[in-house]
Amino acid sequence: MFQQIAEMGHERILLCSNPEVGLKAIIAVHSTALGPGLGGLRMWPFKDFDEAITDVLRLSRGMTYKAAAAGLNLGGGKAVILGDPKTDKSEALFRSFGRYVESLNGLYITAEDVGTDMEDMEIILTETRWVSGVSPAHGGSGDPSPVTAYGVLQGIKAAVNLIFGQPEIKGRSVAIQGLGSVGYYLAKYLKRDGASKIFGADIDTEAAEKAAADFGVEIVSTEDIAKVDCDILAPCALGASLNEETIPDLRCRIVAGAANNQLADEERDGMALHEREILYTPDFVINAGGLINVYNELAGQYNQERALRMTRGIYLNLMRVFEISRTEALPTYVAADRMAEERIGKIKGLGARHWGRFISNHHPETG
Ligand code: NAD
Repeated sequence: MFQQIAEMGHERILLCSNPEVGLKAIIAVHSTALGPGLGGLRMWPFKDFDEAITDVLRLSRGMTYKAAAAGLNLGGGKAVILGDPKTDKSEALFRSFGRYVESLNGLYITAEDVGTDMEDMEIILTETRWVSGVSPAHGGSGDPSPVTAYGVLQGIKAAVNLIFGQPEIKGRSVAIQGLGSVGYYLAKYLKRDGASKIFGADIDTEAAEKAAADFGVEIVSTEDIAKVDCDILAPCALGASLNEETIPDLRCRIVAGAANNQLADEERDGMALHEREILYTPDFVINAGGLINVYNELAGQYNQERALRMTRGIYLNLMRVFEISRTEALPTYVAADRMAEERIGKIKGLGARHWGRFISNHHPETG
């Protein structure tokens, strides 16, 4: 394990055990080069410790890249609780976890993730202030989906600009895979901006019908949505929707959507899209709106207008990814990593730790 940690570059791993309340958790801080390591708390019935640690190491590293690419003064972290969210939750469990978070004195900031929700975050808040995603009543930022969708819209515009020579949505056709929280708002923005056609699919027929009724989305089957002849495919459902089976059937010029981990196998499927000359906007760059939203909560006095304004930066971030991809002849999924690594490298080079204006209030040594 030490070798794995050394190879992936983690700064700190904390094993949390409190048998009295049934807590078995791992907190991984990957990097604090740019700021405190922020990342969600996942509660999942992992089959064993190895599965849990592999997940938390991988996910915390992903957060470092996501925050860096978004230009935020945040590092990367993540936590997992080994347990079943349906049966194993208790106040004592989350308070105990909160004390471990507190013990890191701001190196790690937690948030909700798969298996945890706002109520759990509020219990953690009783033990530590290093928690985000609490309710608006506690100064929290609430549902991030509208901001995430707005960020996806900016990413689509950047991609459209590259392929069609101008960033207008007007006249473009889009297929949205998954009309849940983000997909719904994305359809709204696309309709507002004059998309010529919006196709959509969801396994939840109610969600599909709502998008059809509200924004005139043309519903197609979940099997066919990725095969629709359109300008842009926007994966907004689950991960791994771009794979060996789906990529050969794509009939779009651009893939740009909110889902996490869209490439089933990053290298194989990222290359396959590159070879088919389909422009892939790397998921962790285009879907950073949710993180930008939480970042604004940490800055204090959350204001959605400010979060939306910052989210517009996703356009320029993607233009930079496309530029690196073009000048260095790299597929976009590699170029995005390169962009994040460049920024981390430069800031690390400054020497002394500086967490920037927004987060300085929370800095363990000054806050
Ligand atoms: P959601 O659960 O509200 O919506 C997902 C929708 O996809 C659901 O309506 C579901 O029925 C549908 N779906 C599931 N399988 C499908 C399939 N095979 N075909 C078509 N539809 C299918 O989730 P969300 O918050 O809208 O997030 C969507 C994606 O974006 C997720 O991958 C999430 O991790 C990612 N993401 C979300 C945010 C955010 O702010 N909500 C931020 C970053 C990334």
